[in-house]
Amino acid sequence: MSDAPVYPRLSFDEQSRLLGNIVTRCAHRSSEPTPVVVFDLDGTLMDNRPRTCAILREFGASLKTREPAIAESLMHAEPGHLAYLLSDSMEALGVHRTDLVAELQVFWRARFFADDHLVHDVALPGAVKFAHDCYEAGAILVYMTGRDLPLMGIGSFRSLRDLGFPIGVPGTELVLKPDAAMADEAYKRLEAPKLARVGRVVAAFDNEPGNCNVFKTHFPEAESVFVDTQHLPGAPALSPGVATIGDFRSSS
Ligand SMILES: [Mg+2]
Repeated sequence: MSDAPVYPRLSFDEQSRLLGNIVTRCAHRSSEPTPVVVFDLDGTLMDNRPRTCAILREFGASLKTREPAIAESLMHAEPGHLAYLLSDSMEALGVHRTDLVAELQVFWRARFFADDHLVHDVALPGAVKFAHDCYEAGAILVYMTGRDLPLMGIGSFRSLRDLGFPIGVPGTELVLKPDAAMADEAYKRLEAPKLARVGRVVAAFDNEPGNCNVFKTHFPEAESVFVDTQHLPGAPALSPGVATIGDFRSSS
């Protein structure tokens, strides 16, 4: 995969400057529509790998008698062991049995994409402070996630609240997919233009290069920022002008 795109990250100083400039652009001028900052959730504001680890521990517990060695490996899974795809994570954890991987896929899917296990997610470094900085500077925050409303809406609201992000106050919105079966990029491509009714998009953050390119196309004046955590294998190169950061830490 030598031709896979590379995503060089900004230096810490450049990242601090970019985030600081975005906060400055969040100041509301009465002659213009209110600034809007768009945040994806999974892999952008939040690290969801602890959610998968919790599910692996539950699956491991269910295997204790049947497959004690595999159970032991799953019980000790850490976020650093996980690949983007569950099947690759299983390989890394030494689980090579296709029947068990298939069983786990069903077990994982029923829990990963559901309200209750969102409690395990953690905020990316600096994310809570940066969201507050944007909000307090005057922006409307739109959390626009590929999670779906029927299965993950309540848990997503609760998770944002419990992690300390601005939510449930004027100038914040949680926007979810109507249907889990819809592809994330298609959903964001369809819905992004509707953000114009909220205000003037000044920045959008996402951990999928394809989504960052969608935002850059729809809002060329805004900062489109790629958060380089995990992304789908085979992701495209970034469009010109999309910046790359690893988290939301800054010197301010
Ligand atoms: Mg994401």
